[in-house]
Amino acid sequence: MGMSTQPTDDGGRRVSGNTSWCEYEYIHDASGKLVSWRFTARTPKDEQLTWDEAAQRLIRGVLGLTQVVLGIHRPPEYVIATRESICDTCDENVHGFCGQLLKPGKDKCGCLIKAKVRLANEQCPLEKW
Ligand code: SF4
Repeated sequence: MGMSTQPTDDGGRRVSGNTSWCEYEYIHDASGKLVSWRFTARTPKDEQLTWDEAAQRLIRGVLGLTQVVLGIHRPPEYVIATRESICDTCDENVHGFCGQLLKPGKDKCGCLIKAKVRLANEQCPLEKW
């Protein structure tokens, strides 16, 4: 991971780099005008979901949210509080989602944590609760 800037043959510069989730390259001409750019989001192959898996998770999420709204399968308050306190300190908690919503990876569910902890039949994918 990192970034580098190199001169181009025509006096411009090429800025390229990568992060854990993307690769990028920008090319500027000698006047500083952006002449081309490339941006590629990347996810490790073994972390990618198939369309089937993504669809199943989406359906499961909609059903789960419906149950939460209707108060079905709600566990006791102490269970909710315990689960929330565990999720609050978990590294997989990304802005309130377990893993990333659109790229949760195979070992994270991508669920909205506030909803997930309120369903009695839910489990932490990493078996923390
Ligand atoms: S459900 Fe489990 S893995 Fe997901 S944020 Fe909570 S403790 Fe972490």
